[in-house]
Amino acid sequence: MTTGLNTPPGVSQKLAATIGLPYTLTTGKAVGSTITALASKRLTGSYCSDCQRTNVPAQDYCVGCGGEMSLIEAADTGTITAATTTPEHTLLLVQIDGASSPLLHRLVGPAEGAVPGVRVRAVWADETKALFLDLEGFEVADSEAAASSPVDTTVDDAMKEMPYRLDLDYQHSYGPYYGRLFDELAHHRRLVGSPCPQCHQVMVPPRERCDVCFARTTRLVEVQDTGTLQAFSIVHLEFVGQTRTPPYVYAEVVLDGSSTRLIHVLGGFEIEKARDLTIGMPVRAVWKDASQAQGTLADIEYFEPVV
Ligand SMILES: [Zn+2]
Ligand SMILES: [Zn+2]
Repeated sequence: MTTGLNTPPGVSQKLAATIGLPYTLTTGKAVGSTITALASKRLTGSYCSDCQRTNVPAQDYCVGCGGEMSLIEAADTGTITAATTTPEHTLLLVQIDGASSPLLHRLVGPAEGAVPGVRVRAVWADETKALFLDLEGFEVADSEAAASSPVDTTVDDAMKEMPYRLDLDYQHSYGPYYGRLFDELAHHRRLVGSPCPQCHQVMVPPRERCDVCFARTTRLVEVQDTGTLQAFSIVHLEFVGQTRTPPYVYAEVVLDGSSTRLIHVLGGFEIEKARDLTIGMPVRAVWKDASQAQGTLADIEYFEPVV
């Protein structure tokens, strides 16, 4: 099959993808103490004896003068200083009683009457999880102003570190070359590559320029789902992002009709038999059931040795 690059309607355009960065957050004294206190439904603040500033939630250093702050138990009542309504929530700035600056949180309950000057009270989660949202938000409540009081307990039990995760969601745009490859996989279970008009190597996945001589490619050709094992490695290590459980065999395969190495895995045999694999042996694709096809190279479950 030879085909032009004018992609038909419905060609794969974008992949919704996420880069996940799991890590351990070292909380520090103020945040660790605050989260530990939240789990027992208490609000913690900090007090600066140099400039008499009180922060809720607690900070390690004073935002006013930079001095070190001591922890205090803060009131769980306050006054709305600003409110704004979003499609999901009414967001509030709440001046906690005794605090020098407002705390940003959300309103719990009906939005009517939640205007600046109105008194509010903390609403706690039924089951706390040592997370900031153990404090679910604030509800309108008639209450007298309460005073903050020094914490008389130590913070030795404060959380020192917590598992954390940063997720970066994005859309990967395939472009016409990868888009057509994934479309062919999804709809016809076939692989395509781009031949170089100058040096005649066929690249899989297809790309716009030859990576040997940089000539622009202009068309696609079908390549076979059989090929030659060019390199392999038996993976025993576990690491973040693996889609298979070790041990498994990582492989580079040159498909029949192509010139480049396609990275995939080998399978279809007991892992102890991996020592019988040899460079140059023929392999073929084993496809997943059509009902599981997603239009990616993972539609091929693995390559198996042809014996
Ligand atoms: Zn200060
Ligand atoms: Zn070339």
